[in-house]
Amino acid sequence: MNVVALAGGVGAGKFLRGLVRIVEPRDVTAIVNTGDDISLHGLHISPDIDSVMYWLAGVADRDRGWGRSDESFRALDEVRRLKGQSWFGLGDVDLATHLVRTQLLSEGKTLSEATAHLTDALGIPARLLPMSDDPVPTMVHAATEEGQGLYMHFQVYWVQRGARDQVKAVRYEGGQEAAPAPGALEALAGADAILICPSNPVVSIRPILAVRGIREGVEDARRGGTGVVGVSPIVGGAPLRGMADRLMPAVGLEVSAYGAAAAYPGLLTGWVVDERDRDMASRIRDELGLRIAVTDTVMTDDDAAERVSRVALELATG
Ligand code: GDP
Ligand code: CA
Repeated sequence: MNVVALAGGVGAGKFLRGLVRIVEPRDVTAIVNTGDDISLHGLHISPDIDSVMYWLAGVADRDRGWGRSDESFRALDEVRRLKGQSWFGLGDVDLATHLVRTQLLSEGKTLSEATAHLTDALGIPARLLPMSDDPVPTMVHAATEEGQGLYMHFQVYWVQRGARDQVKAVRYEGGQEAAPAPGALEALAGADAILICPSNPVVSIRPILAVRGIREGVEDARRGGTGVVGVSPIVGGAPLRGMADRLMPAVGLEVSAYGAAAAYPGLLTGWVVDERDRDMASRIRDELGLRIAVTDTVMTDDDAAERVSRVALELATG
């Protein structure tokens, strides 16, 4: 069974750990958001690819939610002392990933090739594809408290400025000129199920769908009878962690299991709703025309993730 997953960061990493327990890992292709990618210290950083890699390799930090376990931040402390750019957290061990990726890119390799190199070195048997080898930065239109307009990279909005500005709009810059990563459209066309991981709809999943051809690839697969099922990243009316609650209203989405499903009009066949949002299930089913499964979606460990991924896969293929 071939399964394609659209993936953001941590929610996706946890979910995929469960999925590769129930599907042959080499038959799983994750198309990962690169809208958050940023260049710092001359290094190419791909936060969502890194999160998914670290989770699948079993070296992620479960408590912090990003980066690697057994991490230290001595290099960043020294960058700060040297008055360099220290607003973006980069661990000492994590830095090695960015060094190797940047070296491969400087040799002329594509981001897909660099990602394949890293997943291979980390012993990850599933296939991870960046959404595109071309840059498609997620950009935020916002206004400061004083009413000054800003147009900035998502990481500047979120990490550097601490999400303090009023967001007016979100843009996936260059999405329509970017090409999907090699293999992404073929994977969608050959999928027996397409799963949307419990990731932020605005800054993780919609950036992937903004890459030319990817939304159409999902739509075509769906028309051909492939189930397209997402797991709600909104649990009990709020994100488990992260900032979906800030960005969803800015693009006209209600912060709820309903609003997250409504982020993908015309794409889904089913939606997995957390049991805490059970009373919303009939509204999602009736208004959005989706098949619904209700379960505990909080992935506290791999057994929970396996259960959630099984519910999603069964809804997509059943
Ligand atoms: P980021 O790039 O690491 O911020 O992560 P994602 O794009 O994956 O999005 C974060 C979203 O994942 C948040 O809305 C969380 O609520 C959701 N999430 C994280 N862990 C879980 C989980 O165990 N279950 C569910 N249902 N959602 C989760
Ligand atoms: Ca992310």
